[in-house]
Amino acid sequence: MNVPLLDLGPQIQLLRNEIIEAVTRVIDSTRYILGPELQSFEEKVAAYCQADFGVGVSSGTDALVMTLMAMEIGPGDRVVTTPYTFFATMGSVLRVGATPVFVDIEEESFNMDPEALQEIMEREQGRGHGVAAILPVHLFGQCADMGPITAIADKYEVPVIEDAAQAIGACCPVVDSKDHISWKKAGSMGRTGCFSFFPSKNLGGIGDGGLVTTSDKELVDILRSCRNHGASPKYYHPRIGGNFRLDPVQAVVLDIKLQYLDSWHKKRRQNSKIYGELFAGKGLAETTVRLPVEKYRDMPGAEEHNHHIYNQYVIRVPERDALQAYLLEHGVGCEVYYPRCLHQQECVSVYNDQSFPIAEKAARESLALPIYPDLTREQIDFVVETIASFYTSK
Ligand SMILES: *Cc1c(COP(=O)(O)O)cnc(C)c1O
Repeated sequence: MNVPLLDLGPQIQLLRNEIIEAVTRVIDSTRYILGPELQSFEEKVAAYCQADFGVGVSSGTDALVMTLMAMEIGPGDRVVTTPYTFFATMGSVLRVGATPVFVDIEEESFNMDPEALQEIMEREQGRGHGVAAILPVHLFGQCADMGPITAIADKYEVPVIEDAAQAIGACCPVVDSKDHISWKKAGSMGRTGCFSFFPSKNLGGIGDGGLVTTSDKELVDILRSCRNHGASPKYYHPRIGGNFRLDPVQAVVLDIKLQYLDSWHKKRRQNSKIYGELFAGKGLAETTVRLPVEKYRDMPGAEEHNHHIYNQYVIRVPERDALQAYLLEHGVGCEVYYPRCLHQQECVSVYNDQSFPIAEKAARESLALPIYPDLTREQIDFVVETIASFYTSK
């Protein structure tokens, strides 16, 4: 048997006719930039994410870059983020000329540790450094702990930008001062939420795409102008932006897929549950293989709110490299997200002497297994059998 890490084939088979019809409609309309199809999709995604506005952009990376530009964050500004994420999170900060400041992650969730964030904010203030923004990432489909993170941001009067590229539709429990819990969608808690429609995300286009959510009425006008070279009105440029537009061709495809998104999330969650049962059945769970942890599983309302959308199903084992080689050799697709932390990257050699031990350990131990919605029970069985055979053959 062969189990790929991701197979979009079944999904495109199901939606093929619908997609071809929609793309044909765009082609025949001859309206290829912005327009009503894009606007309608933006409104639907914003509503889905519990935000007032959505601004379609060319990629998740550009969603981040454009937010930073719209918020006038640049040289001399410091942006607090995590060292354990896809490069684009840090790359966007560097590209606008700002300085990333790293906070270590929580061992269990892989996300920014709010206690460590508090320490860093205090340290930065003590050194006389203003922080221009806090940029948490909702890694692998589970939200960073936004209750404490936004509380810290409010205390220091710093805006939060959510990197929600992997977490469209994920919910986060936020506890208010009266101990009341409200479940909030990724992209509705920060000043903006930055989403990616890269094909491997839970909502993926037929190419690159992204979107910024916000409920800030003034900011949305600036964002819309930024994606169009900072023009407002046309040919008059109060600011510098870029060509960050999302094509209507992508918008109509994503619009179709959006209708299926919750059912796909559900299948990913079911697959995760099956993995859990099979690993436990083999006696591998916890002792040998550390399974992903759903941080919010015991919060009231967790059942009804999708608190992990499993963009990736990431296990942890100390012998990760040997296991990965074994799985690939035996037909099981798997990938390391991410083998090297951001502060250790060559392009930021000035940070290389910094140390974030929990992130570094995650980079050594984590391994993503297939979790896509169309995975069959037999394929999941095969993945777990193969992992079990790795341990018995050792
Ligand atoms: C995918 C991703 C991005 C970038 O999105 P693109 O659409 O590929 O530019 C940014 N941050 C995170 C955490 C991502 O996973």
